[in-house]
Amino acid sequence: MNASVQESVDCVVIGAGVVGLAVARALALAGREVIVVEAAEAIGTGTSSRNSEVIHAGIYYPAGSLMARTCVAGRRALYRYCAERGVPHRNCGKLIVATDEAEAERLAGIKARAEANGVEGMQLLGAAEAVRLEPNLRCTAALLSPTTGIVDSHSYMLALQGDAEAAGAMVAFNSPLESGHASNRGVDIAVGGAEPMRLSSRLVVNCAGLHAPAIARRIAGMPSDRVPTPYYAKGNYFTLTGRSPFSRLIYPVPVAGGLGVHITVDMGGQAKFGPDVQWIDDIDYSVDPRRADSFYAAVRRYWPALTDGALQPGYAGIRPKIVPPGAPAQDFTVLGPADHGVPGLIHLFGIESPGLTASLALADHVAAMA
Ligand SMILES: Cc1cc2nc3c(=O)[nH]c(=O)nc-3n(C[C@H](O)[C@H](O)[C@H](O)COP(=O)(O)OP(=O)(O)OC[C@H]3O[C@@H](n4cnc5c(N)ncnc54)[C@H](O)[C@@H]3O)c2cc1C
Repeated sequence: MNASVQESVDCVVIGAGVVGLAVARALALAGREVIVVEAAEAIGTGTSSRNSEVIHAGIYYPAGSLMARTCVAGRRALYRYCAERGVPHRNCGKLIVATDEAEAERLAGIKARAEANGVEGMQLLGAAEAVRLEPNLRCTAALLSPTTGIVDSHSYMLALQGDAEAAGAMVAFNSPLESGHASNRGVDIAVGGAEPMRLSSRLVVNCAGLHAPAIARRIAGMPSDRVPTPYYAKGNYFTLTGRSPFSRLIYPVPVAGGLGVHITVDMGGQAKFGPDVQWIDDIDYSVDPRRADSFYAAVRRYWPALTDGALQPGYAGIRPKIVPPGAPAQDFTVLGPADHGVPGLIHLFGIESPGLTASLALADHVAAMA
């Protein structure tokens, strides 16, 4: 395409993370013409490749919230999709473990919330039952979530991209959205990079993750009072030298801002601990090795046998928060014309965990709005 010529297109999706790809797939399968514009040179280089790769059951979110609904529906759809498409995944289950009486008292409330969300099979366990399942565990009580699992997120994204392209969608890499202008006819956008282009689109879906609020502000005509302020809550991971001591995922009782330092394992068998919560001002993915001290302390509460020196700095991801530290957690925020008054424009803000799990259901939600 040529920068001086304005091409017309039915739909543009901004961002080829897991959510943008799922949205592009859903729109393309619905028969719509779709171009995905991605600033990076490949799919999934943002938060979608910097997470725990856990298929969440849907336990923690307020009943009726978009997070609760799309996590439960998305999890069911994701297991089906992975099985159909041969995406590596494992329904390994997880234990939420209490390490003192105060935490143990919270487990019943977590179970009730999960059941209100439609999560199947949650089971309270005494310490002896939990240790029978996981002999290396120390706890006073536990909550078993049998529907939790893990997925190879990159294989999943490749399958989404393949479906979208097979249905006619195109993914343009090295193509950052620079600016836009909304009118009654749709949204005109300017895309930079090596091959700049100008597109006139009936529908633009903003799936730019951490950058979604900044992009919304760059679209003239979008009311700025409907665009949230972005905040970044980094989550650092440390990897474990050697095999995981557990066959299930082990989570503590949740903490403010995140789910607590848990142990997960990826499809390659690498065990990792994290993510913690570190509020930062700028995007920075480096992992400070000194943070290991707090990891040892957090992990030894439920796995006392963790030896000194076993944790190595791993990687970090950043939660795209839209509320500041200390504020109550915010639901996924999907804003369409009925919310902000601009035709042909949909923004996805605050798509933090469980966005990977929820991606297929979020895509259905966007396709229905579109
Ligand atoms: C630490 C951590 C752990 C998590 N663990 C889990 C988990 O275990 N399970 C789970 O379900 N969820 C988890 N999540 C949440 C999940 O990773 C995210 O919800 C999901 O990856 C968000 O995908 P996305 O497509 O919205 O964003 P991203 O993956 O960030 O994609 C956005 C894309 O937009 C592109 N972009 C940015 N600016 C522009 C521009 N100007 N023009 C064009 N493209 C642009 C970026 O390059 C990027 O590719 C976790 C998140 C974090 C931070």
